[in-house]
Amino acid sequence: MKAIAVERGDSRPRLIDKPRPDPDPGDALVRTLRVGIDGTDLEVIEGTHGGFPAGSDHQVLGHEAVGVVEDPNGTALEAGQLVVPTVRRPPGDATEYFRRGEPDMAPPEECLERGIDGAHGYMAEYFTSPATYLVPVPDAFATTGVLIEPMSNTEKALEHAYASRSAFEWQRDAALVLGNGPLGLLTLARLQSEFERTYCLGRRDRPDPTIDLIERLGATYVDSRETPVADVPAVYEPMDLVYEATGYARHAFDTIDALDQNGVGVLLGLPGDDEFDVAGGRLHRRLVLGNRAIIGSVNSHIDHFDAACESLAALPDWFSDELITDTFEPAAVDDAFSTAPDRIKTVIEFDSR
Ligand code: NDP
Repeated sequence: MKAIAVERGDSRPRLIDKPRPDPDPGDALVRTLRVGIDGTDLEVIEGTHGGFPAGSDHQVLGHEAVGVVEDPNGTALEAGQLVVPTVRRPPGDATEYFRRGEPDMAPPEECLERGIDGAHGYMAEYFTSPATYLVPVPDAFATTGVLIEPMSNTEKALEHAYASRSAFEWQRDAALVLGNGPLGLLTLARLQSEFERTYCLGRRDRPDPTIDLIERLGATYVDSRETPVADVPAVYEPMDLVYEATGYARHAFDTIDALDQNGVGVLLGLPGDDEFDVAGGRLHRRLVLGNRAIIGSVNSHIDHFDAACESLAALPDWFSDELITDTFEPAAVDDAFSTAPDRIKTVIEFDSR
């Protein structure tokens, strides 16, 4: 079967041929329809994030997938059911995090991540997975199901952010998303129904499809070259929620300045080992005296996938058409992983329903 993988010592993904997997007991065989590409895939290819499966000379990429159950293999799933796989798997025996259904809370060394860290991903014509990690989704997601995994990360991040504000009467009117990549834009769309005013920060000139999308959603585009994050309260307004999806390390600290009293910042980006000076004392004081919170959030689990389905279903129909700008067949791997100014979200299509 066809698969897209990066080989050890190589720095670009390639189309390879590998045997179709046989499901182990408890696993189902899934025929892949579509797999999305995101910033994490590029970090995996560069070798700055994740790692190869033990003993393998290649890693099959992809963690944002939607597929159809080809062979339920005696599991509770039915053939033909549309499913979206979760990402984390136990490294051997299930740890307490997996046993209690919270693998997203496991430390990185206590889990594998399909397509990212220590396990093959879903960018192949078929993949197998324990049925318990395959989330059944409605048929309407056959083409847009690749957005469920990224949106599930936002569902978890917001759940944790809101939980941190649940001990008092939290007034939330204004939200700022840092980053106009696919994750930032998905989140911006999600926040429209919860905040009166929304903003999204990028660093691009017009005309640009992400700025068009931001404005079509009804949000305000903030250019970080003109208005750094810390200046946002003075130029626009202080924020009740800041959602960071740039991976730019300074934004973690600038977020404290952007937050209103009682606000919460949630960080999702994955920076490198950047080192820089920060006004530590002032920021510490601002956190404490303003009852502000900064939290980090990674990955998601089944409830978040279910919530993501609901959130995506509630978005306007035009949104996914404008977000998914490019769809390629597996043979066009070079084009799929290249960048283009008018590209937002790229998807590899292995098959259709
Ligand atoms: P992208 O790299 O596609 O998007 C990042 C966006 O941030 C880009 O549009 C980029 O602009 C913008 N950006 C970066 N630096 C700045 C800056 N200084 N000022 C303004 N804009 C900036 O990634 P994704 O959207 O796929 O993901 C976002 C981040 O979240 C990544 O770091 C990714 O690794 C991480 N991630 C984390 C998850 C989690 O569970 N914690 C899950 C999924 C992703 P431009 O394009 O113009 O360069």
